[in-house]
Amino acid sequence: MDIARLSIDSVRAGLNERRFSARELAAEALRFAQAENPSTHAYLHLSPDRALEAARRVDEKLARGEEPGPLAGVPIAVKDVILTQGVRTTCGSRLLENYIPPYDATAVVRLERAGGVILGKTNCDEFAMGSSNENSAFGPVRNPAALDRVPGGSSGGSAAVVAQGTAVVSLGSDTGGSIRQPALFCGVVGVTPTYGRVSRYGLTAFASSLDHIGPFGRSVRDAAALLEVVAGRDEMDSTSAFAPVPRYAEAMTGDVRGTKIGLPKEYFKGLESETGDLIAAGAGVLSKLGCEVREISLPATDYAIASYYIICTAEASSNLARYDGVRYTLRSPNSETLSDMYRSTRGEGFGAECKRRIMLGTYVLSAGYYDAYYLKAQKVRALIARDFTQAFQEVDAILAPVSPFPAFRLGEKLDDPLQMYLSDIYTITGSLAGIPCMSVPCGRTAHGLPVGLQILARHFDEPGMFRLAEAFERATS
Ligand code: GLN
Repeated sequence: MDIARLSIDSVRAGLNERRFSARELAAEALRFAQAENPSTHAYLHLSPDRALEAARRVDEKLARGEEPGPLAGVPIAVKDVILTQGVRTTCGSRLLENYIPPYDATAVVRLERAGGVILGKTNCDEFAMGSSNENSAFGPVRNPAALDRVPGGSSGGSAAVVAQGTAVVSLGSDTGGSIRQPALFCGVVGVTPTYGRVSRYGLTAFASSLDHIGPFGRSVRDAAALLEVVAGRDEMDSTSAFAPVPRYAEAMTGDVRGTKIGLPKEYFKGLESETGDLIAAGAGVLSKLGCEVREISLPATDYAIASYYIICTAEASSNLARYDGVRYTLRSPNSETLSDMYRSTRGEGFGAECKRRIMLGTYVLSAGYYDAYYLKAQKVRALIARDFTQAFQEVDAILAPVSPFPAFRLGEKLDDPLQMYLSDIYTITGSLAGIPCMSVPCGRTAHGLPVGLQILARHFDEPGMFRLAEAFERATS
């Protein structure tokens, strides 16, 4: 079996035709992941016991003639900010280096209930803060498409395992672009669903009003199938939506004639030229398929980065307060008083980017600055959301770049956090508005670096978004 090319459907076919058992597949996938991982460092750790046990349950169901679920036997990786009971979950941080969660995230429960087999946990920026995976306390990930380059971040590991073929699909998390940007950098499909579409229960909080769990896949179909399993209302997350989960595959008819697509002019200003050309060619493909493509304007875009980095740091400063050396794992041993212990635990445990954000966030929330920064950023967020609402009165979907540039070299932007923040200039708006958005591969640069097309849609219109993305994928592959 060619592990690196499996799809959800081909796994199912292999099981049905008895070419392999789920357990054989899991053992082979674990072996392959172990062998390939040193080149990318995309997995932080594998979870063989859990994987083989999940596979055994699938085989038992098959033997009894029961339906084993839509993800039966599928090797899946999970970003290490998503809790897995009994399996170490580090969030890419020294603070949680040995943390073993006592419960599973809802998304994890659901994907195993659907027959999915979790191979292991993927590397990521510390507490999902970053755009290159270089903020992981355990070392960076290399991009399988070009090993001297970053895979993007913060879900760099989850994108890389799918690109490398050491998992069929994976889960990541997105706060301001952490699924779409690594998907683009590694050349795979990445989906940020509508805010509230997937329960955040068991997702370690970075900026709660922006955090999303979402899937990666080598095809739109695979990513959509994983989303369908993990989506839906969950009692454990009051912000999870009641809206029923559609059957996404039914939306993928290939027929996109008459779909109105907007190209926001603000998103085409600072693009590298090859990226710009590939996005333009992508728009051309969709118009050939019968879409009506026109220019639109999202005027508040210029303020998105500033607003995002105020809101996300404010929320992060509050969410990260829980890592105090009393709860969770790391506790600095050399302190005399309680406040010393807090200080040295946090001082030793957090990396530079987390500290920067805690300081920024504390500052923008402090009494004298709350109105000037935090409140203003919230107003801008409302304007950005309004831009989208107005645009979606004219068009059905928006087409944009994911990032101004393709994967950059390891170390290239490390000394300049502002440059790093610019990676997210085109992804942050969708996150702030809470609308579904995704990255779908749209070709490669002359140097072979993947480029991705971003599709954004109305709240809960994942079906329309997938229809476009899948039609595009069919037309271009
Ligand atoms: N790169 C952005 C940041 O550093 C987005 C991170 C994310 O989406 N988790 O905040």
